[in-house]
Amino acid sequence: MKIVVVGYGPGGAAAAVAARMFNSEADIKIVTQETLESHRKPGASLALEIPDTNDLAIKDWSWDALSKKRIEVLPGTTVTPADSKLNSLQITGPEGTSTLDYDRLILATGGIPNVPSISGTDLPGVFTIQTMADTSEIGKLLTGMNRVVIVGAGFSGLETAERLVSLRKDTHLIVRSRIMRRQLEESMSTELMSRLPSALTVHQGESPTSVIGDVKVVGLSLGDKKLDADAVLFMTGVKPNVQLAKQLGVKIGSLGGIVIDEKMQTSEDGIYAVGDCVEVIDSFTNKPLLLPVGSVAARAGRQAGVAAVGGKKIYEDTSKRLQYDRIFGTDIVCIGHSSTTAEDMGVKTSVQYINDPSEFANVALVTDSKGQLIGGQVITSRMGARLGYEILERVESGAILQDKPLLKPRHERLRDYLETTYGPIT
Ligand SMILES: Cc1cc2nc3c(=O)[nH]c(=O)nc-3n(C[C@H](O)[C@H](O)[C@H](O)COP(=O)(O)OP(=O)(O)OC[C@H]3O[C@@H](n4cnc5c(N)ncnc54)[C@H](O)[C@@H]3O)c2cc1C
Repeated sequence: MKIVVVGYGPGGAAAAVAARMFNSEADIKIVTQETLESHRKPGASLALEIPDTNDLAIKDWSWDALSKKRIEVLPGTTVTPADSKLNSLQITGPEGTSTLDYDRLILATGGIPNVPSISGTDLPGVFTIQTMADTSEIGKLLTGMNRVVIVGAGFSGLETAERLVSLRKDTHLIVRSRIMRRQLEESMSTELMSRLPSALTVHQGESPTSVIGDVKVVGLSLGDKKLDADAVLFMTGVKPNVQLAKQLGVKIGSLGGIVIDEKMQTSEDGIYAVGDCVEVIDSFTNKPLLLPVGSVAARAGRQAGVAAVGGKKIYEDTSKRLQYDRIFGTDIVCIGHSSTTAEDMGVKTSVQYINDPSEFANVALVTDSKGQLIGGQVITSRMGARLGYEILERVESGAILQDKPLLKPRHERLRDYLETTYGPIT
């Protein structure tokens, strides 16, 4: 069996490894436009500070580690459909152009950065972070520049801000409404904001209206206000990269991503898709959802790899958000839905908060109208992963709010609270 995976991000790499685990005979190839072995988009902003991207490689997914699993990586290679033959692709890379046949195809083509439609975004000095190789180049170009403006305050915008502050750049963050609006409840955003260092200047409630400059960036207009800038980084999310999928006749959904089923199978037999290029099926509402998160891509990749080699297993965690990051010394954990993402999908929610000053921890728990825990957020100085895990277990098990007093006078541990209100995990 010939398996071709297009994409060497978390989705593609996980799919190839899972396919190998479940089929020792298959011929498995990963084709990628990436030229660097160490591609690692989650955390790519690290390459601003650490230009040697080899130091940032995920060892398990290195070419060498994959070749030991008999998975061949074809770097610097672009895939397009072959003209006539079914189950065949055209690949163009360092060796020229040739065809590549497949029995099963897994598309993990990622996302394309969203840049607002305003003037000046094509000026030198305007950047998006797309690959680690690009980011390393951006890091070099920023040498000698002082004021850098980041537009967008999601995980990746904040992560990038942290790198620039540590590089002692005069760093400004433009926030349309509030930081991490989709992932965090309002009071959690406020708490996180209060923990950001004074070296980062946050412009809240502002949107760029144009990038200013003739031959290169000199500033950014924010309506009536002008901000001087040597460089502008747009960290304003991604849209699904569905170019190849469209050429292959694969169905695209109303949100602009590839339509998939629970096995990650697309509308075309034998073609699977995972990661930022797809519309995942939300496990709470069964509605399509764009969820461009590396950990989601990796879990979906595992599902696609297993299904592509004929495995029957259905993993149930392929569409749940699990994001953890430590930014500016604060652990930020987001699991499942926030009230914003749930209500966008028509789910009525209520949110309970636990603030534990002794742990410097703030927790928000999001429940639906039946009291089922559908998401949670943690902002804490320490033990974020541990606290997040306590919530994740309950979200995954569909824990329901117990008919018990909600708030104890004082909480020593989140676990106590969760066990009282949602019951122990059995
Ligand atoms: C700065 C930054 C920080 C982030 N931090 C985190 C984080 O901390 N945690 C987290 O979970 N997520 C994070 N993300 C999001 C995460 O990077 C993405 O969700 C994840 O990379 C998506 O994986 P993917 O496999 O779908 O595609 P990608 O990683 O985008 O990879 C797409 C692949 O497809 C290949 N490709 C596309 N078209 C073709 C073609 N025609 N021919 C050949 N190859 C093709 C590309 O070369 C590439 O290898 C971050 C994103 C950014 C930008």
